[in-house]
Amino acid sequence: MSIFSKSLLFRGVGGRHYSAAAQAQLREILGNQLAGIKEAGTFKAERVITSSQSTQITVQGSDKKILNFCANNYLGLANNPEIVEHSQKLLEQYGAGLSSVRFICGTQDIHKQLEKKIAQFHGREDTILYASCFDANAGIFEAILTPEDAVFSDELNHASIIDGIRLCKAKKQRYRHRDLGDLEEQLKASDARLKLIATDGVFSMDGNIAPLARIVELAKKYNALVFVDECHATGFFGATGRGTEEYDNVMGQVDIINSTLGKALGGASGGYTTGPAELISFLRQKSRPYLFSNTLPPAVVAVGLKVMDMLLQSSELTQRVQSNTQRFRQAMTMAGFTIAGENHPICPVMLGDARLASKFADEMLTRGIYVIGFSYPVVPQGKARIRVQISAAHTEAEIDRAIDAFIEVGRSLKVIQ
Ligand code: PLP
Repeated sequence: MSIFSKSLLFRGVGGRHYSAAAQAQLREILGNQLAGIKEAGTFKAERVITSSQSTQITVQGSDKKILNFCANNYLGLANNPEIVEHSQKLLEQYGAGLSSVRFICGTQDIHKQLEKKIAQFHGREDTILYASCFDANAGIFEAILTPEDAVFSDELNHASIIDGIRLCKAKKQRYRHRDLGDLEEQLKASDARLKLIATDGVFSMDGNIAPLARIVELAKKYNALVFVDECHATGFFGATGRGTEEYDNVMGQVDIINSTLGKALGGASGGYTTGPAELISFLRQKSRPYLFSNTLPPAVVAVGLKVMDMLLQSSELTQRVQSNTQRFRQAMTMAGFTIAGENHPICPVMLGDARLASKFADEMLTRGIYVIGFSYPVVPQGKARIRVQISAAHTEAEIDRAIDAFIEVGRSLKVIQ
């Protein structure tokens, strides 16, 4: 009997597993739930793209190019030839991956270089890389906060912040969305050792901005720390793309910044925490997604390195996404649409009704414009919308084409006159 034969003990006739009944039960339970999700109209089908990520893409089942207005590709760098070339170069030089976590044998010189460049970009002391910002958010609160501490979290923070906070033992306090009165009441009443205010810099469903300057003021008054998730800001928001703290004139005053390499910064993957040297050093010792997960592959590190070089040299792309955003928001508002959010490339076109949002998105696709309708439970009941995302890579002509299509569909569905 070979060492592998043992597994036969668990197999019945025809290789069927003895747990067939349990598996049938699982299929039935999940199948019923899936049917429920479909019936509620909230099933998320994935459209299959057959080109690189760009403003013009092709999707399975069609040769026609469609205009993409729903990627987080804010700077249009996801298929930038210089970045792809650099990534190929480091793939050849450093190999496919490290087969290791960072502290065993997964740290190359390029990981250290990228951490240094990100810290330089944000004007911080040091940076720690993660496989994603989801991991960065999952790893920070549990590592640094104890039961003696308290975390004050905006109720609409991203799921990864919510999950990260769930893992920690600090006192968990939620304040009403961007409500500084509520935040202040809670800070005033707290006798925690460390107080940490946690907020998204930009809230991705509404494209609205955390009142960061006033949060920083409250933090000073009540001796609290400020943590900001800058996934929808780093590289393109604020005059030179330094993010929400630049936009709100409080550069350098946020204590901890978490962000992603998977959106504006080349769109590959990866996340990070940047801040005080002791914090970064401590996270390398204690943060579980860092300690127990594989290091970023060289081809991905290369994307981050090249993007950082580009952004440290020039803010041209940042300015372009800002002027494209203004063009879209102004024309759409003039046409009679309600665009939520503030001056950010996330432009939610508010429609209210879920079925209307879904029909609107379908009609846009027949006109060659790819946008997505968002409805409950992703956004509150009755607040369905189409979330348009503008990129520096959109040409003015492409933006105008999208606006024309919105106006045509908006009139035919009686959303505008
Ligand atoms: N934080 C926010 C605000 C996000 O929008 C996202 C991505 O959707 C994340 C964190 C997670 O980032 P990543 O894709 O790097 O895991």
